[in-house]
Amino acid sequence: MNIILLGPPGAGKGTQSAGLVERHGMKQLSTGDMLRAAVKAQSPVGLRAKEVMDRGELVSDEIVSDLIDANLTAMEPETGAIFDGYPRTAAQADDLDALLAKHGRSLDCVIELEVNVDALVERITGRFSCAKCGALYHDTANPPQKEGVCDVCGSTEFKRRPDDNEETVRTRMDEYRAKTAPILPGYEKRGIVSRVDGMAGIEEVARAIDGILG
Ligand code: ADP
Ligand code: ADP
Ligand code: ZN
Repeated sequence: MNIILLGPPGAGKGTQSAGLVERHGMKQLSTGDMLRAAVKAQSPVGLRAKEVMDRGELVSDEIVSDLIDANLTAMEPETGAIFDGYPRTAAQADDLDALLAKHGRSLDCVIELEVNVDALVERITGRFSCAKCGALYHDTANPPQKEGVCDVCGSTEFKRRPDDNEETVRTRMDEYRAKTAPILPGYEKRGIVSRVDGMAGIEEVARAIDGILG
């Protein structure tokens, strides 16, 4: 299985990807996570991407498609891929088709997480993650069971993304509307798009996704 999780910033792509990894042993390919790792490592890609990400704009298609290519190369062919935050432009969608063919894979399904735009700013400004294992949390909607302690690994250190502020979120939402939403009709024509109500609770969304994957 190779699937795309599509939706604006804060829709729940990362949260649902983590669930799919746990339940189905798939691999999450998040270009956002890959880019943040590159920024942290101060690699050439990270140095080029940092300011663009801080502004909430999109980094170049070439950079992200190369990251996806490298990750697919490193994967066992039988492991399913969850594309999280990629593709985000028409050019990336074309790149993905070429990369899947190159790696002997095909796209099974595009799951669109439908969310109310008004909820996104709250979701994003309340988002934080475990500094050690990356588990995702939200101040009100999904806090750790024991305050200040990661449910997954027990760490007491957490972090927030520098781009998770209200101003940058608006730019990221504009980028989504202008460049990412327009790739959906192409997938619709292929008959592989399913929609899920992303405003439902995290577990309900997970059940809906499992229902689609069968
Ligand atoms: P994305 O990867 O699409 O940007 P995330 O999965 O990081 O979104 O979710 C954004 C924030 O919203 C996180 O803090 C997460 O805990 C929270 N969240 C995710 N799904 C839901 C949901 N169904 N209901 C409420 N909050 C959610
Ligand atoms: P979110 O979870 O809020 O949707 P991501 O973690 O996916 O955000 O992405 C964070 C930032 O990384 C984006 O605002 C953008 O600058 C960059 N980025 C991530 N994926 C891509 C991509 N496929 N194309 C271009 N830029 C990307
Ligand atoms: Zn943790």
